[in-house]
Formats: sequence, C-alpha cells, structure tokens
Amino acid sequence: MVRETSVDVAVVGNGVLGLAVAVETARRAPGLRIAVIGPPGRAGAATAAAGAMLNCFGEVTRYTGWHPAAQAKFALARQALDRWPRWLEQLADDAGPPTGETALRSHVPGTFVVLGGGVGTIAADNFTALCRAVEEHGEPHDVIDPADVPGLAPAPQARPLRAVHLHREGCVDARAVLAALEAAARRHRVRMVPDTVSEVLVSADTVRGVRLADGSTLGAGAVVLAAGSRSSELTADVLPPGAVPPLLHGAGSALLTRRTRPGGARQAIRTPNRAAGCGLHLLPLLGTERQYLGATNFITCTRPDGPVVGAAEILIRSARQEIDQALAGSQLTAWMWGARPITLDGFPLIGSCPVAGLHFATGTYRDGFHCAPVIARHLAARLLGPGPADADWAWFTPYRAPIETMTVEQSLTETATHAAETAREHGLSLPFFLDDEPVATYVRDRAHRLFDRLGHPVALPPEILLLAFILAARGNDHPARWLADHLHAAHTHHAPAPDA
Ligand SMILES: Cc1cc2nc3c(=O)[nH]c(=O)nc-3n(C[C@H](O)[C@H](O)[C@H](O)COP(=O)(O)OP(=O)(O)OC[C@H]3O[C@@H](n4cnc5c(N)ncnc54)[C@H](O)[C@@H]3O)c2cc1C
Repeated sequence: MVRETSVDVAVVGNGVLGLAVAVETARRAPGLRIAVIGPPGRAGAATAAAGAMLNCFGEVTRYTGWHPAAQAKFALARQALDRWPRWLEQLADDAGPPTGETALRSHVPGTFVVLGGGVGTIAADNFTALCRAVEEHGEPHDVIDPADVPGLAPAPQARPLRAVHLHREGCVDARAVLAALEAAARRHRVRMVPDTVSEVLVSADTVRGVRLADGSTLGAGAVVLAAGSRSSELTADVLPPGAVPPLLHGAGSALLTRRTRPGGARQAIRTPNRAAGCGLHLLPLLGTERQYLGATNFITCTRPDGPVVGAAEILIRSARQEIDQALAGSQLTAWMWGARPITLDGFPLIGSCPVAGLHFATGTYRDGFHCAPVIARHLAARLLGPGPADADWAWFTPYRAPIETMTVEQSLTETATHAAETAREHGLSLPFFLDDEPVATYVRDRAHRLFDRLGHPVALPPEILLLAFILAARGNDHPARWLADHLHAAHTHHAPAPDA
C-alpha cells in the first residue's frame, strides 16, 4: 500500500479533543483528507485517566464571576451541557455497534454535589457560588438532605452539611467514549497514524505539515495542535517566545474499583472544587459494581514522570472519609494517571494564530472532556471557513498575554488562603493560638520572594502559583527561572508598539 504523504488536516494528538475535532470536521466535509497522529498507548494523556464528569455548574467556583474571561469559559461549558446528549447519540451512530452503543449506555445523568463539614472557606464559597449560579440560570436542581444521597456513606465526623442534585449534569465512561471516537473516526475515513510528531513544519509563516518521530514527513494544509500538556513542546521553534501562554502539567491520579458490598453511587457524587485543586468524585461505571474514583491534582511546569504514592494516599483517605467508607473493601482494578493540559493563566487555547493554517485545541485543564463537543464544533467551523465570530471565544485566542482575573495582591492573598486550607484539609492541626497563620505566612513570603525576581509580575491563578511555583519549587530554582523567562518574553512580545 502506498502511504499518503499529504493530507488536508493533520491533527496532532489522539486524546478526546484531537479525535472530537477530527470526527466533527470529517462529518461536515466528507471528502477532506484528515489524519490524527498520536501514540496508541497514550501514556500520560489526560483523557485516558478522566472519569469523566460532564459538569458545568458542578465546576463553578468563587472565581467564575470575577472576570469576563471566566464567564466566557462558563458560557462554553453551558453550551457543552446542552450539546452532550445529542452529541453522544450522533457519536453512537457514527461509531456503530458495539462501541457506539457502549459509549451511549455509559452516560449516567445526574450529579450530587455535597459539601462536607470539615472543609474550608474556599470549598464552601465554591458551593455557594454553584448554588447561586443554578438559581440565576434556571438550571434544574434540587437542594436535598445529604442523608438522602444514594451511595453516600462517609465517616460520621465528615458527614456533609449540604447537598444539591444537578439533574442534567452527569458522567460518561471516558474510555468507552474514546473507543467510540476512534471507531467513528475510522468510519469517517480519518487516517489514524500511530506515531508522535517531532516537529511542526512552517515556512513563510504558513504551516506545511509535520515531521514524525520516524523521520518521515506528512504534508498538511492545516495542523491542529491537540497534544494535551505537551503541545507547547511543538511550538517552541515555530512561534516567537512569549506569544502564547505555555502549558503546564496538571497531574491527576484516579482509580477504578469493583464494589464487594451492596450500595455505592448510582449517579455521580462529587464535592465542589476545593483549595488548590479539583473536587473529589465517585462515578458509577457500566458493569457490575464498577466505580471510578478521582482525582488528585498537582501542577508542574516540567513534565512529571508518573503518579506519586502521596497522591494515592490522599485520594483514598479523602474518599473513604468523605464519600464512602466501604471503598476500603472494594477491589482495586486499575490505577490511572494523566496530565491535564493547563495554561499559565488557566484558560484554554482555542483557535488560529498568525501562522496560517496552525490551530490550537488545548489547555482545557479539568473539564476538557465535558467541553470537547463544543470546542470540536468551533474548530471544525474554523477549519472549513472563517468560522463564527463570537466574543466569548475571543478570550481563548492562543496569541495572547496571560489573562489576569485578579490583581497581583489578590493572587498572593488567595494563594496563601489556598495553602492554609489545603494544609488543614490534609490533617494539619496547630495549637489554637497559631491558627493557620504560619502556613499562610510561609506561602506569602515565598510568593513575595518569587515576585521580586519577576521583572513583570502577573497575577497567576492561586492553584498554579501555589503548586507549580511555590511548592514544586522548594529546593529547585528551575520553576522560578522558567516563569521569569516566560513572563519577560510575554511582556516583550505583547507590549504595545511605542507609537501606538
Ligand atoms: C485524573 C483526571 C480526571 C479528569 N476528570 C475530568 C472530568 O471528570 N471531566 C472533564 O471534563 N475533564 C476531566 N479531566 C480533564 C480532561 O481529561 C482533559 O481536559 C482532556 O481530556 C484533555 O484532552 P486532550 O485531548 O486535550 O489531551 P490528552 O488527553 O492529554 O491527549 C493528548 C494526546 O496527544 C498525544 N501526544 C502528545 N504529544 C504528542 C506528539 N508530539 N505527537 C502526537 N501525539 C502526541 C498524547 O499521547 C495524548 O494521547 C480529567 C483529567 C485527569 C487527568
């Protein structure tokens, strides 16, 4: 068989975003030659480790209303919430039996969000913001007694105080949907290339294709970068330094269990997002008593090697304590790990850039699975024409200075609060006269020292500042240098022209 050496669209990355973009584009333009390039094993991919919750309101935090960019991100997640049922049916049709059917059956509507008694003000504020948002937007929900949440069986001292049931938000089995996307892509004649891209080929400010790890090249009229948290590695030689916010790695661990005792979650049970990370969640999966338990979150600017034991310990301890004590007796059937693609400012990178034909579909952090159908629709429209003009999407244009949703001072204060609350949630207990002041003071001092080194301080999201640049940086100068270099380059690149 002669191997084709050029395609119309080369999608780099075979996670949920790359595949969703390829399938949506192929559906709209059946004659287009599309290739998806990515290693079949997907080691470290976020998609393969996701639950996945399909949450919009469940992801609301106290920061959602702080800035128009955060509101635009919320609007995107709302569109996805409306789109999922139809998108999944269409995917099932495209994939055909049995994969399409399995993905469809894995969808479980309904999510219980529970607020535990022992959590700090950040989780409590996030829960309040969530309740306000469902009221404001008329989202179907019930405020219920936590004792009535089926499958919720926490330790007595961790009984939740409040609970809300979100009717339309739910979960799917990410691995079943991924299999359906692959099947749909093949049926749409998308070429699957089981390799890794080593270079994006650009000349005269126009994308020409990609070079693969085996040394061969694949010409392409358009390239979509959907390589998850590794996408920045491919733009270093193609785009000016500082032009696009870089990607960090939000490492997350999760596990699959099989219950050995009756009970268990019948719909998704989750906490609100909490200090420095994501919410704890237990999801029912297809099959006898199968459950997904997620997830940890640790953000770094260098690629992590794999999961760490401490993450496993925290996940299991918190889940037993706050959600279901019977988890201890469940069988552990799989341990999963992946790196969420998160940008320096926490907002996604979606759309085109000044290199003609180069598009981004990444930076989705903790809800990229949920948002995939609308991001795919947007990208497909852009690949096939100018695409719709929409002010909300403009926030996520890849060529941008980091978006700041708060002042530098607020970022420092919030970061210190996240640190103190995280420490308390993980069992730190101090004499009454100390409160959590030492933790907050330590983090504030470190943050001030870091900011003193930055020529152009930027208000980073608290969890990024805390995890990637304060905690991960202990005894290691690289993160601070990395940040200073990037912010300097971004400042230089995006500074207004002198006569502007
Ligand atoms: C533990 C965990 C739980 C999560 N839970 C949820 C959830 O409940 N709901 C939700 O909406 N989201 C969730 N997320 C986030 C979600 O998984 C991500 O936002 C989303 O999957 C990102 O998809 P992606 O396709 O951009 O990236 P990825 O899934 O990381 O895929 C990128 C792909 O590109 C490939 N690749 C990398 N480099 C190259 C290269 N050079 N050439 C070719 N291919 C390359 C990789 O192998 C990988 O397969 C979770 C993430 C984690 C880690």
